[in-house]
Amino acid sequence: TGTLYIVATPIGNLADISQRALDTLAQVDIIACEDTRHTKKLLSFFSITNKTIALHDHNERQKQEYIAELLQAGKNIALVSDAGTPLISDPGYHIVSYLRERHLNVAPIPGACAAVAALSVAGLATDRFTFEGFLPSKQGARQKTLSALANETRTMVFYDAPRRAIDTVSDIVETLGSERKIVIARELTKTFETIHSDNAGNFLAWLQQDANQLKGEMVLVIEGAAKKAHQLSEEAINLLRLLLDELP
Ligand code: SAM
Repeated sequence: TGTLYIVATPIGNLADISQRALDTLAQVDIIACEDTRHTKKLLSFFSITNKTIALHDHNERQKQEYIAELLQAGKNIALVSDAGTPLISDPGYHIVSYLRERHLNVAPIPGACAAVAALSVAGLATDRFTFEGFLPSKQGARQKTLSALANETRTMVFYDAPRRAIDTVSDIVETLGSERKIVIARELTKTFETIHSDNAGNFLAWLQQDANQLKGEMVLVIEGAAKKAHQLSEEAINLLRLLLDELP
């Protein structure tokens, strides 16, 4: 049987593609794309003239069966998304899960991922972190998401649109406080790459004085909540108070 290669592509700078990704894209029987027009630009830059198919033309079940049949017929396939690592806030999860259940071969060709690239330069703790995907675009839902994470002690990584950055940072000030450290990594690997870190309160002023910061693509990294030293339950505290009253 063949193999489905999950191939990471650049998130901006085309030189970030790996040699193994190029070899795989050139050698597989078919490249399954999120958007064929987008991927064809990448392929033509590297003079790769392989066959591409768009997966969005099929419904989920058809896609899974189609890919499984190709693999069973001995074909090798590359799966790519428009940018970065497929399945990371990108399509592919259902297919990979379907193929795994049937013990078909799925292999990674690792490379760029905006979340990991941002984390690597954020200067916030990286020993433990959580990837939260896209922040909701509506204010109510966004505030709810942030409030629910108020006690999260791990570093949090989000995808968000820079045009909403002022609204998002205002919501962070409101839900997590103005002292919380945040990092915005914008246009990573591209001409206008900007990585800025400050506490949420100061961040607003910085965003407001430069409209360029509201363009392109961004990753938002938020410092985890300070770990509380030994949180005692209310019950335990009341018991201690009672005992204290009994002391001579
Ligand atoms: N699969 C991709 C990956 O591995 O990073 C993510 C795809 S997701 C649909 C697109 C989001 O990733 C953007 O909205 C942005 O939040 C983030 N992103 C992608 N490229 C970026 C870049 N060059 N700089 C900053 N953020 C980027």
